[in-house]
Amino acid sequence: METQKLLYTGKAKSLYTTEHPDQLLCVFRNDTSAFDGRKIEQLERKGMVNNYFNAFIMQKLAENGVPNHFVKIAKDDASIVKRLDMIPVECVVRNYAAGSLCRRLGIEAGLELTPPTFEFFLKNDELHDPMVNDSLILTFKWATQQDIDQMKKYAFAVNEVLKKLFLDAGLLLVDYKLEFGRHESGLLLGDEFSPDGCRIWDAKTKKVLDKDRFRKEMGDVVEGYEEVAQRLGIKLPQVA
Ligand code: ADP
Ligand code: UDP
Repeated sequence: METQKLLYTGKAKSLYTTEHPDQLLCVFRNDTSAFDGRKIEQLERKGMVNNYFNAFIMQKLAENGVPNHFVKIAKDDASIVKRLDMIPVECVVRNYAAGSLCRRLGIEAGLELTPPTFEFFLKNDELHDPMVNDSLILTFKWATQQDIDQMKKYAFAVNEVLKKLFLDAGLLLVDYKLEFGRHESGLLLGDEFSPDGCRIWDAKTKKVLDKDRFRKEMGDVVEGYEEVAQRLGIKLPQVA
């Protein structure tokens, strides 16, 4: 009997069913996209690096009170996750100004944001992921008030855990995007946490070590991700 059926192919990951109805296989592909999928390239080793990176972070978050979908690593480029009913909004937390915040509000890049900011964006590439707010989320029933409160609470809890983890490695967690979904056990953090969905700078030199290297054609994209992984103590398989 066939146990694995392709359920969904996104821009960077593919989800397959498994023999457990409650679990999916999440394959991290080498595909790297930016600008709502208008720029796409294959970057060697990226799927593997992001899989190990995500596993490490999700385990840290679970240990520190942020429940999430990660179950276990299945292969170098894939993990088993709990199947979620995804909430179609992205939650962005920022510690330093960068990216769309600077473009939208004319804020100088690198400004420290105190307190950190929180934004919701609708997950919709055709509409370029427009910013939304609690009122729109409730009216269009993308999530309930309880979901909204929990997403905000967990998004800031993630910041408490990860800001310190990165700073201890001499790195600034500039901003990050999270996605949540519903599970019988409650709301869980889903999707991924990797340099594809966050910004990380060297604390001293401000060297960019995340997907902005790809967006801005800076080169050495996966090398940047690997440098962060190595500085966080994440063990990556040696590729010949
Ligand atoms: P995108 O859909 O933005 O192109 P990806 O390539 O990362 O992104 O695809 C992963 C998709 O899987 C996303 O749409 C995400 O919301 C969804 N997803 C992530 N984790 C889970 C999960 N545990 N259960 C179901 N869907 C998930
Ligand atoms: N982000 C993401 N997926 C998206 C939009 C943003 O992972 O569809 C991440 C992005 O990598 C950054 C943070 O969310 O770490 C904030 O992104 P921003 O709003 O600044 O948008 P960008 O400038 O990347 O378009």
